[in-house]
Amino acid sequence: MTELLDCQLNQWPDDQAAYTAAINENPANAGTATGTRRKRSVVNYSKLWANGRTLKIAFLDAPDTDHKKKIIDAASQWLPYINLTFEFVDDLLGDIRIATKNNDNSSMLGTDALLIHPDYPTMNLGVKPDHQDFEVIVMHEFGHALGALHEHQHPQAKIPWDKPKVYEFYKNREMNPLTEAQVDRNLFASFDTLDAIYTAYDRRSIMHHPVANTLTVGNWEVPINRKISKKDKRLMRLLYPK
Ligand SMILES: [Zn+2]
Repeated sequence: MTELLDCQLNQWPDDQAAYTAAINENPANAGTATGTRRKRSVVNYSKLWANGRTLKIAFLDAPDTDHKKKIIDAASQWLPYINLTFEFVDDLLGDIRIATKNNDNSSMLGTDALLIHPDYPTMNLGVKPDHQDFEVIVMHEFGHALGALHEHQHPQAKIPWDKPKVYEFYKNREMNPLTEAQVDRNLFASFDTLDAIYTAYDRRSIMHHPVANTLTVGNWEVPINRKISKKDKRLMRLLYPK
């Protein structure tokens, strides 16, 4: 079982507060800027940054120069496909705040980062710089920070999970075990947002977790995707048009 990409995508628990933060940042998050939205509700909105803006990205715990450069290089791979500028700072005041000393890899989804107290990180990059998938994990977490959800939770994904085995596996593993509720939320629940409306399911997306054959019914697996896929690029161009 590969655990190379073990990521926790975090969303602010109070949906009304998250909605307000998203709309204050970018009124288009309400969906009024698009003509093709399905029936809207407060749950169905996006958490995108204001298009064209500069995102300040702070390093909270002073990783060394090489480590920092590797993060910047990996994150910057998104830049050709978005209309945002990244400004990496050391002054601790960032829209996105990165911590590197914990072991987990996690990010707030898009503008939910605005709701985190300024002393706390909005993204954890616990992966060590010498890890073979360091770059992949950094790109993946930045995908979330830009507002992208998990591709394996796309409503068209229809992954033939062997659910009892999946629960067992995550409950019993040594590192970062997950409850059934966490598995439901991180693997099984599907979403219904801009991602799903505009782009089809893509098993090559860098936002897809690897899926082990042992955890599915029949012969079905997804290896770790190490590159920003064509669909990832298309989605980002749609979300942040130049
Ligand atoms: Zn993730």
